Amino acid sequence: MTTVLGCIADDFTGATDLAALLARSGVRVSLRIGVPAEAAACPAPFEIVALKSRTAPVDKAVAEARAALRWLQGSGAKRFFWKYCSTFDSTAKGNIGPVAEALMDDLGARQTIYCPAFPENGRSIFMGNLFVGRQPLSESPMKDHPLTPMRDSNLMRLLQPQVTRRVGLSDRLIVEQGPCALRTELDALRAEGVAHVVIDAVASSDLDVIAKACRDMPLLTGGSALAMPLPGLYLEDRVLAANAPVSEAPPLDPAAIILSGSCSAMTNRQVADYTRTGAPSLRLDPLELAEVGVAPVHDWVQKQPFDRAPIIYATAEPESVKRAQKRLGIARAGEIIEEALAACALTARQSGARRFVVAGGETSGAVTRALGLDCLSVGAEIAPGVPWCYGHSDGHQIALTLKSGNFGTERFFSEALEKLEVR
Ligand code: ADP
Repeated sequence: MTTVLGCIADDFTGATDLAALLARSGVRVSLRIGVPAEAAACPAPFEIVALKSRTAPVDKAVAEARAALRWLQGSGAKRFFWKYCSTFDSTAKGNIGPVAEALMDDLGARQTIYCPAFPENGRSIFMGNLFVGRQPLSESPMKDHPLTPMRDSNLMRLLQPQVTRRVGLSDRLIVEQGPCALRTELDALRAEGVAHVVIDAVASSDLDVIAKACRDMPLLTGGSALAMPLPGLYLEDRVLAANAPVSEAPPLDPAAIILSGSCSAMTNRQVADYTRTGAPSLRLDPLELAEVGVAPVHDWVQKQPFDRAPIIYATAEPESVKRAQKRLGIARAGEIIEEALAACALTARQSGARRFVVAGGETSGAVTRALGLDCLSVGAEIAPGVPWCYGHSDGHQIALTLKSGNFGTERFFSEALEKLEVR
């Protein structure tokens, strides 16, 4: 099997979001954490390379994306998808444009499109301006993001300083006329030398039109929602065979553990909900960990009945987090918790746990590293954009799901375990 679509994502949870939406088709999706050193032994029809380049220096982001492209080409891919956030998160020296332009150069592509819209999640584009719900991007909470504050809502203005060739727009009035009209407009723009085209999308049906019109471009760029119609179109076009490998849930020992290092409002509710079920629980306190170390925590983990899916959490209310940060420093408090949860994951696996539910973006990175995971195959979706993933840790078949901050409903932890049960 060769890869039909090779995807490059600029962060880890963004990659799992894209993976979940492609996996809705049932076709096998593989997620690689960083660019693999070796060629894929058995490439999946959809391959995603997860980078951590959103806020990296431009040169580094470009070099990593090019390396990912070469690796994906080695798996047979001829079509590529550059995935970034639906709020177009990038710094002033942003990486979205430079990476797209480098990939276009390597592919010999004269044009690509930009469509971060995700209408189901309230991200829409009209006349080239990005909206979060009913607010323009620059008036949404994204204006105060600590790393990538978005102070302009106009995608053309954001993009033009990041690229060397011309930026243009195909607006909703064209998209509304359907794929043929959009295709004709894109060809006309290309003839005028417009290499980078922002495309409006306010409803999911707009994304269907855009995907139909652009499915044969060597490079598409956008949020995960733009990729959602592609598997169906590739099946129609027979680019993807009707008997393409499907995702399969491997047989798994039910022993499970939940590790929560996110302090978001939703994760606080999820932990409260799960502890009410009576499952064994242990709360980690960074101040106590700094004083007495992790040994007592390891003892606790080793004694757990994993069939009852115990939970270890550092999740706390903002005042408690602030108190710890004041005493230990923000970075140190975070590190202590991440290291402890990562070590717990390893001890749990050594003690027999095979299903891991992890909450927190940074926490997910720490746990994934500790378990030595570099390739995951993507399975059932628990909440929009949060799938179960399968991999091998020290020769053991495991399942894990990685949930960032505010994703999922209040019952997420129970739902995650139930979802795996019915597979
Ligand atoms: P999210 O996806 O919600 O942003 P992350 O795991 O990315 O979650 O970030 C949460 C950060 O907060 C991590 O660095 C984690 O170690 C840290 N943290 C978790 N619990 C506490 C706590 N009780 N006190 C201080 N820091 C904490």
